[in-house]
Amino acid sequence: MQKVRGILIGRMQPVHNGHMQVINKILHEVDEIIIGIGSAQLSHELKDPFTAGERVVMISQALADANVDPSRYYIIPMQDINFNAIWASHVKMLTPPFSVVYSGNPLVKQLFTEEGFEVRQPPLYDRLRLSGTEVRRRILNDEDWKELVPKATVDVINEINGLERIKNLSKKEVSDI
Ligand code: NAD
Repeated sequence: MQKVRGILIGRMQPVHNGHMQVINKILHEVDEIIIGIGSAQLSHELKDPFTAGERVVMISQALADANVDPSRYYIIPMQDINFNAIWASHVKMLTPPFSVVYSGNPLVKQLFTEEGFEVRQPPLYDRLRLSGTEVRRRILNDEDWKELVPKATVDVINEINGLERIKNLSKKEVSDI
Protein backbone atom coordinates (compact mmCIF):
# COMPACT_ATOMS: atom_id res chain seq x y z
CA MET A 1 0.00 0.00 0.00
CA GLN A 2 1.21 3.54 -0.73
CA LYS A 3 2.78 5.31 2.22
CA VAL A 4 1.22 8.50 3.52
CA ARG A 5 3.85 11.16 4.09
CA GLY A 6 3.41 14.35 6.04
CA ILE A 7 5.71 17.36 6.21
CA LEU A 8 6.52 19.76 9.05
CA ILE A 9 8.72 22.74 8.28
CA GLY A 10 10.21 24.85 11.04
CA ARG A 11 13.11 27.16 11.72
CA MET A 12 13.70 25.21 14.92
CA GLN A 13 15.93 27.88 16.49
CA PRO A 14 16.46 25.77 18.53
CA VAL A 15 14.64 22.42 18.50
CA HIS A 16 12.39 22.41 21.60
CA ASN A 17 9.92 20.10 23.32
CA GLY A 18 6.97 21.56 21.34
CA HIS A 19 8.60 20.38 18.10
CA MET A 20 9.16 16.94 19.61
CA GLN A 21 5.54 16.66 20.75
CA VAL A 22 4.16 17.73 17.39
CA ILE A 23 6.45 15.28 15.55
CA ASN A 24 5.25 12.52 17.88
CA LYS A 25 1.63 13.38 17.09
CA ILE A 26 2.28 13.45 13.34
CA LEU A 27 3.97 10.04 13.50
CA HIS A 28 0.70 8.66 14.88
CA GLU A 29 -1.18 9.97 11.83
CA VAL A 30 1.11 9.24 8.87
CA ASP A 31 3.58 6.53 7.85
CA GLU A 32 6.52 8.88 7.33
CA ILE A 33 7.36 12.45 8.27
CA ILE A 34 9.52 14.89 6.39
CA ILE A 35 11.08 17.41 8.76
CA GLY A 36 12.14 20.53 6.90
CA ILE A 37 14.77 22.66 8.59
CA GLY A 38 13.57 26.06 7.38
CA SER A 39 15.64 29.20 6.73
CA ALA A 40 18.66 26.93 6.35
CA GLN A 41 20.80 29.81 5.10
CA LEU A 42 20.43 31.73 8.37
CA SER A 43 22.68 31.46 11.42
CA HIS A 44 24.63 33.69 13.81
CA GLU A 45 21.73 36.11 14.19
CA LEU A 46 19.93 36.71 17.45
CA LYS A 47 16.65 35.32 16.07
CA ASP A 48 18.43 32.58 14.09
CA PRO A 49 21.56 31.67 16.02
CA PHE A 50 22.12 28.07 14.91
CA THR A 51 23.31 26.73 11.55
CA ALA A 52 21.21 24.26 9.57
CA GLY A 53 23.79 21.57 10.37
CA GLU A 54 23.57 22.25 14.10
CA ARG A 55 19.78 22.04 13.92
CA VAL A 56 20.01 18.76 11.97
CA VAL A 57 22.10 17.25 14.79
CA MET A 58 19.65 18.53 17.43
CA ILE A 59 16.64 16.95 15.74
CA SER A 60 18.27 13.72 14.59
CA GLN A 61 19.81 13.03 18.01
CA ALA A 62 16.56 13.93 19.80
CA LEU A 63 14.64 11.49 17.58
CA ALA A 64 17.26 8.79 18.20
CA ASP A 65 17.02 9.42 21.97
CA ALA A 66 13.23 9.08 21.68
CA ASN A 67 13.70 5.71 19.92
CA VAL A 68 11.92 6.84 16.76
CA ASP A 69 12.50 4.38 13.90
CA PRO A 70 14.89 6.17 11.47
CA SER A 71 13.06 4.64 8.48
CA ARG A 72 10.07 6.82 9.37
CA TYR A 73 11.59 10.27 8.92
CA TYR A 74 13.64 12.43 6.57
CA ILE A 75 15.42 15.59 7.75
CA ILE A 76 15.95 18.10 4.97
CA PRO A 77 17.43 21.59 5.30
CA MET A 78 15.72 24.10 3.01
CA GLN A 79 16.78 27.64 2.23
CA ASP A 80 14.23 30.43 1.96
CA ILE A 81 13.54 31.90 -1.45
CA ASN A 82 12.41 35.41 -2.29
CA PHE A 83 9.18 34.31 -3.98
CA ASN A 84 6.39 33.15 -1.68
CA ALA A 85 4.19 32.25 -4.67
CA ILE A 86 6.55 29.45 -5.74
CA TRP A 87 7.87 28.41 -2.33
CA ALA A 88 5.62 25.30 -2.10
CA SER A 89 7.06 24.11 -5.45
CA HIS A 90 10.56 24.80 -4.16
CA VAL A 91 9.82 22.63 -1.10
CA LYS A 92 8.37 19.87 -3.33
CA MET A 93 11.53 19.88 -5.40
CA LEU A 94 13.67 19.26 -2.30
CA THR A 95 11.63 16.51 -0.63
CA PRO A 96 10.15 13.05 -1.15
CA PRO A 97 6.51 13.26 -2.32
CA PHE A 98 4.07 14.16 0.46
CA SER A 99 0.34 14.66 0.74
CA VAL A 100 -0.29 16.28 4.14
CA VAL A 101 1.22 19.51 5.44
CA TYR A 102 1.35 20.17 9.17
CA SER A 103 1.79 23.74 10.28
CA GLY A 104 0.60 26.37 12.70
CA ASN A 105 2.29 29.09 10.66
CA PRO A 106 -0.38 31.13 8.77
CA LEU A 107 1.83 31.86 5.72
CA VAL A 108 2.89 28.21 5.38
CA LYS A 109 -0.74 27.08 5.66
CA GLN A 110 -1.88 29.64 3.07
CA LEU A 111 0.80 28.78 0.51
CA PHE A 112 0.24 25.00 0.67
CA THR A 113 -3.56 25.33 0.72
CA GLU A 114 -3.36 27.35 -2.49
CA GLU A 115 -1.32 24.52 -4.03
CA GLY A 116 -4.13 22.06 -3.21
CA PHE A 117 -2.50 20.22 -0.29
CA GLU A 118 -4.35 18.96 2.74
CA VAL A 119 -3.15 21.21 5.57
CA ARG A 120 -3.58 20.17 9.18
CA GLN A 121 -2.97 22.42 12.15
CA PRO A 122 -1.59 20.41 15.05
CA PRO A 123 -2.48 21.51 18.60
CA LEU A 124 -0.09 23.98 20.19
CA TYR A 125 1.58 22.46 23.21
CA ASP A 126 2.22 24.91 26.04
CA ARG A 127 2.99 27.59 23.44
CA LEU A 128 3.82 30.37 25.94
CA ARG A 129 6.77 28.33 27.20
CA LEU A 130 7.51 26.02 24.28
CA SER A 131 8.76 28.41 21.62
CA GLY A 132 12.16 29.22 20.19
CA THR A 133 11.67 32.85 21.20
CA GLU A 134 11.21 31.84 24.86
CA VAL A 135 14.23 29.50 24.80
CA ARG A 136 16.45 32.25 23.37
CA ARG A 137 15.05 34.81 25.84
CA ARG A 138 15.83 32.54 28.78
CA ILE A 139 19.36 31.90 27.49
CA LEU A 140 19.99 35.64 27.29
CA ASN A 141 18.61 36.21 30.78
CA ASP A 142 20.40 33.27 32.43
CA GLU A 143 17.07 31.60 33.20
CA ASP A 144 16.32 27.87 33.03
CA TRP A 145 16.06 27.10 29.30
CA LYS A 146 17.08 23.45 29.51
CA GLU A 147 13.67 22.37 30.78
CA LEU A 148 12.14 23.50 27.45
CA VAL A 149 14.33 21.46 25.09
CA PRO A 150 15.38 17.84 24.55
CA LYS A 151 18.76 16.74 25.91
CA ALA A 152 20.13 16.67 22.34
CA THR A 153 19.59 20.44 22.02
CA VAL A 154 21.43 21.02 25.29
CA ASP A 155 24.29 18.82 24.07
CA VAL A 156 24.64 20.65 20.74
CA ILE A 157 24.46 24.08 22.39
CA ASN A 158 27.17 23.03 24.86
CA GLU A 159 29.33 21.49 22.12
CA ILE A 160 29.34 24.66 19.98
CA ASN A 161 29.50 27.14 22.88
CA GLY A 162 26.05 28.30 21.85
CA LEU A 163 25.36 30.31 25.01
CA GLU A 164 28.42 32.43 24.36
CA ARG A 165 27.41 32.79 20.70
CA ILE A 166 23.95 34.11 21.58
CA LYS A 167 25.28 36.47 24.23
CA ASN A 168 27.92 37.83 21.86
CA LEU A 169 25.31 38.33 19.15
CA SER A 170 23.21 40.36 21.56
CA LYS A 171 26.22 42.51 22.52
CA LYS A 172 27.00 43.16 18.88
CA GLU A 173 23.45 44.29 18.16
CA VAL A 174 23.50 46.67 21.12
CA SER A 175 26.88 48.20 20.18
CA ASP A 176 25.74 48.63 16.54
CA ILE A 177 22.88 50.95 17.52
P1 NAD B 1 8.89 27.19 14.07
O1 NAD B 1 10.13 26.46 14.43
O2 NAD B 1 8.45 28.37 14.88
O3 NAD B 1 7.66 26.18 14.07
C1 NAD B 1 7.68 25.01 13.29
C2 NAD B 1 6.37 24.29 13.42
O4 NAD B 1 6.27 23.75 14.73
C3 NAD B 1 5.16 25.21 13.18
O5 NAD B 1 4.20 24.55 12.40
C4 NAD B 1 4.66 25.46 14.58
O6 NAD B 1 3.25 25.65 14.59
C5 NAD B 1 5.06 24.17 15.30
N1 NAD B 1 5.27 24.46 16.73
C6 NAD B 1 6.15 25.32 17.29
N2 NAD B 1 5.99 25.33 18.62
C7 NAD B 1 5.01 24.47 18.91
C8 NAD B 1 4.35 24.07 20.12
N3 NAD B 1 4.68 24.58 21.32
N4 NAD B 1 3.36 23.16 20.02
C9 NAD B 1 2.99 22.65 18.83
N5 NAD B 1 3.54 23.00 17.65
C10 NAD B 1 4.54 23.90 17.70
O7 NAD B 1 9.07 27.59 12.53
P2 NAD B 1 8.21 28.45 11.46
O8 NAD B 1 8.51 29.87 11.59
O9 NAD B 1 6.77 28.04 11.43
O10 NAD B 1 8.95 27.91 10.14
C11 NAD B 1 8.47 28.14 8.86
C12 NAD B 1 9.67 28.13 7.91
O11 NAD B 1 9.17 28.22 6.57
C13 NAD B 1 10.61 29.32 8.11
O12 NAD B 1 11.95 28.88 7.99
C14 NAD B 1 10.23 30.25 6.97
O13 NAD B 1 11.28 31.10 6.56
C15 NAD B 1 9.89 29.22 5.90
N6 NAD B 1 9.12 29.85 4.81
C16 NAD B 1 9.80 30.29 3.73
C17 NAD B 1 9.12 30.93 2.69
C18 NAD B 1 9.93 31.42 1.53
O14 NAD B 1 11.11 31.08 1.47
N7 NAD B 1 9.39 32.20 0.63
C19 NAD B 1 7.75 31.09 2.77
C20 NAD B 1 7.08 30.61 3.89
C21 NAD B 1 7.77 29.99 4.94
